[in-house]
Amino acid sequence: MSLLTVAKFGGTSVVDAEAMSRCALILEQNPDTRVAVLSASSGVTNILVALASGEQLPEARATLLTQLTQIQQGILDSLGKPEMLTRHIEDILIHIKELSDSAAISPTKALHDEIVSQGELMSTRLFVELLRSRDTPAVWFDVRKVMRTDDRFSRATPDLTHLTAEVEKELAPLCANQLVITQGFIGSAQDGRTTTLGRGGSDFSAALLAEALKAQAVQIWTDVPGIYTTDPRLVSTARPLPEISFSEASEMATFGAKVLHPATLQPAVRQQIPVFVGSSREPQAGGTWIRNETDSQPLFRAIALRRNQVLLTLTNQSMFQVHGFLAEVFGILAKHKISVDLITTSVISVSLTLDSGAEVLTEEVRDELAKHCHLQVEQDLALIALIGNRMSEISGTGTQVFSALSDVNVRMICYGASAHNLCFLVPEADAERVVDTLHQRLLPA
Ligand code: ADP
Ligand code: ASP
Ligand code: MG
Repeated sequence: MSLLTVAKFGGTSVVDAEAMSRCALILEQNPDTRVAVLSASSGVTNILVALASGEQLPEARATLLTQLTQIQQGILDSLGKPEMLTRHIEDILIHIKELSDSAAISPTKALHDEIVSQGELMSTRLFVELLRSRDTPAVWFDVRKVMRTDDRFSRATPDLTHLTAEVEKELAPLCANQLVITQGFIGSAQDGRTTTLGRGGSDFSAALLAEALKAQAVQIWTDVPGIYTTDPRLVSTARPLPEISFSEASEMATFGAKVLHPATLQPAVRQQIPVFVGSSREPQAGGTWIRNETDSQPLFRAIALRRNQVLLTLTNQSMFQVHGFLAEVFGILAKHKISVDLITTSVISVSLTLDSGAEVLTEEVRDELAKHCHLQVEQDLALIALIGNRMSEISGTGTQVFSALSDVNVRMICYGASAHNLCFLVPEADAERVVDTLHQRLLPA
C-alpha cells in the first residue's frame, strides 16, 4: 500500500547543490513522497527581508543583491549553467532589483511579500533542474494556485476550504503519478497578490498540503536529527527525542523551539498525520516521530526558550469586585489585533505577555488602555517553558523546578492551565544559564 508522504526541506537543506543532492537522494529512496515543499536557500530570505524593508542605502542594497546572486549562481554553476534556467533566474534577480528599488522609495506590505517570496520561487526551480540532471523526473508547481490566504501580508492566514478544493483539483492529480516540487511559506490573496505565512512558515505549508492531500505522513527535513530535549545550540548535552506527542510538540513550537513553526501541528492533529523530523545531512541518524500517542509519557520531556518577551501589567485600584475590567482591556487588545499569550491576575492588576514585540503597543493602544488602568511595560525578558506530561497532577513538580531557580528573579509563572507545560519569565540575561541548569537537573542523560 502506498503511504502518500509530503516532505519539507528547510533552508540549510537546500543551501547549495551539494545539500540539494542529499535531498534528492532522500526523495529517490522514498517513492511514497509525492510532494516536496522547499524553503528558500539558507540566507536568502534574510537578504530579501532586508531589501524589502526599503531602509538600505543604495550601496548596501547593491551588496545584498550581489550576495543573493552569488548564492543562486553557485547552484547554477554546479548544475552546469543550463541555459533556460540560468536566464529564468537572471530575470528573477532583475525583477528583485526593480522591486527593491521601488521599496526604497515607497515600501508597502504587499511589495514586501512579493519580494520575499522570490526565494522559494528560485530554490524550487533550481531543485527541479537538479532532479532532472539526476534522471529523477519532477514537476514544478506554483503553490499560489492552491494556497489562498487572507491579505494580511507577512502573516497571512490560509483559507482551508479553498485550499482543500484547489488541492483536490490541481495538486492531487499531478502528484498521483509524479513527484511535485513546490514552495513553502508563500500563498496568494483573493486578488492574486502574493502573501507569506510568517517566518519559518514552510513547515506549516507542508502540513497544510499534507492535510488537504490526506497524506499519511509529513517529513520535516532540517539540520538536526530530530527534536531535542532543548535547543542543541544552547545546551551541548541536549539529545534527540525518538518520539513526542502532538500536544507536547505543539507546546515546544509555540514556546520557541525554532525547529517547528508554531502552527505546523494544527493540520497534522486535525487529520492525525504523524510528523517525522530528521536531518537531511544525516538521514541515517533517524529522528523524532510526533504522534497522537507516544510509548512513554515522562513528567519532563523538553525545555523551550523564547526570547524578547514583553510583560504588560495593567493596574486599576478600583478593579476589586468590579466586573467588566478584563473584558474592557481584552476588547482593546483584540481591536488592535494584539495577541496575548500568558496571563496572571491579582485583585487589582493583570499581567500578560504578548506574542509580539513592544512595537505593537503604539501610542494609540497605550492611550486607550490608560483610560482604564495604569500601564507598566517590561522588556528584556525571556520565557522558559518546561514541556512534559501530567505536570499539573503530580505533586512536587513545582518544588523540583523552583529549587533549581533559587538565585533567579522569576517575574511570572504560569502553571496548571495545561498538563503539558509550566512556563515562567526570567530576565533575558539569565535565560541561557537557567535552561542549562534545568536541563542538568530535570533531563539528565
Ligand atoms: P529549517 O531551515 O530546516 O526550517 P530551522 O533553523 O528553522 O531549520 O530549525 C532548526 C533549528 O532549530 C536547529 O538548528 C536548532 O538550532 C533549532 N532548535 C531550537 N530548539 C530545538 C529543539 N528543541 N530541537 C531541535 N532543534 C531546535
Ligand atoms: N524562507 C522562509 C524563512 O526563512 C520560510 C521558511 O524557511 O520556512 O522564514
Ligand atoms: Mg524552520
